[in-house]
Amino acid sequence: MKSTKPTLRLKRGHETARTHPWIFKGDVADASDVEPGSAVAVVDAAGRFVGRGFYNPKPALCCRILTWIDEPLDAAFFHRRLEAAVGLRARGHIQGPPTLCRLVWSEADGLPGLVVDRYGPVLVTQCLTHGMARARSLVTAALGRLFPDAPVFDMDDPHSAQLEGFSAALGWSGGSGPRTVRVTESGATFEVTIGAGHKTGLYLDQRENRARVGALARDRDVLDAFCYTAGFACHALRGGARRAVCIESSPEAIASARQNLELNGVAAQAEIRATNVFDELRRLERDGARFGVIVLDPPPFARSRAALDAAARGYKEINLRSLRILERGGSLFTFSCSHHVSDTMFEEICRDAAADAGVRLRVVERLGQASDHPVLLAVPETRYLKGLHLEAF
Ligand code: SAH
Repeated sequence: MKSTKPTLRLKRGHETARTHPWIFKGDVADASDVEPGSAVAVVDAAGRFVGRGFYNPKPALCCRILTWIDEPLDAAFFHRRLEAAVGLRARGHIQGPPTLCRLVWSEADGLPGLVVDRYGPVLVTQCLTHGMARARSLVTAALGRLFPDAPVFDMDDPHSAQLEGFSAALGWSGGSGPRTVRVTESGATFEVTIGAGHKTGLYLDQRENRARVGALARDRDVLDAFCYTAGFACHALRGGARRAVCIESSPEAIASARQNLELNGVAAQAEIRATNVFDELRRLERDGARFGVIVLDPPPFARSRAALDAAARGYKEINLRSLRILERGGSLFTFSCSHHVSDTMFEEICRDAAADAGVRLRVVERLGQASDHPVLLAVPETRYLKGLHLEAF
């Protein structure tokens, strides 16, 4: 018989700070025998209420607290949280949240395990925990009230689904919507195929940085390395860049990149090289190529702590080679989205690369993820995208 009051009791001395929502298996003294993904009351060793979250004994990160007050995780709760998240994105906008934005970002919005992105008329949801996948109908109902006409597409991350032990949703949650949508980002147009591509369709976290590159690319030759669907290159060329060379290895991404460059009327000045960035940087150097703006936006090289050394070598290599083909006075926009690579570590890697390349650099700006991916002071893991705008002098 399952317990009627599911509880997770923390070990003495393992109480969370009441501001960080994560509980690992090693923090747990005992937990009720509940279905994976069920709501539990988290209590301290003395039995005092700490918070309420979804418990899943499968992953090491077995519970994420959703609320620090003793309230049910019901339809009203999800509606309140989603309304607050949408309200945050709507700040400063008269007509509600922007039509292209991340509406909900997991821990940062008090909804660990849930992502909701807005692509024009369509909402895309992504559940990252078993608990959130079980609560999906509550999320969908709340979204239906906040965006009455928006079709909702469910697109879970298969890796998280496997880790958590639920089956990843991929499809329209109710009535179906358009298969492709055109969205506008600071004047550039991108076509997004709903349900395809990386993340939920676009790397929304780079939105503000793409606009930055667009603003200083005039009359420059631009290299967009790891270009995905050519977001940076489209902005740069729209901003008056002379030409752009895009490097990308995924055939699907390349097809979308081509389409986006055409949609923005800049395909004639762009060249896509379907190859490995590491090899192509070497080739460009050998050929004596020079660029006034270089963007390095690689995938996370360090997916675990164990992979850190290899990741550091990878980051150093691409930065070193890019600096060798950067014009004097040119700008390097270099990023790391690896959770395990800190700002300090990333900066050290770039410093080493600059020393080896013999290039002196000014830090024009330290960059991060777009502001609709908020950072919580108490949850440093919410800041994952690190970037530097460096200028060679
Ligand atoms: N800058 C893009 C996002 C880049 S995501 C944007 O603003 O939208 C990283 C991209 O690098 C992915 O599209 C992935 O397919 C590609 N990629 C990963 N490893 C690569 C490699 N070694 N060479 C070329 N492309 C690579």
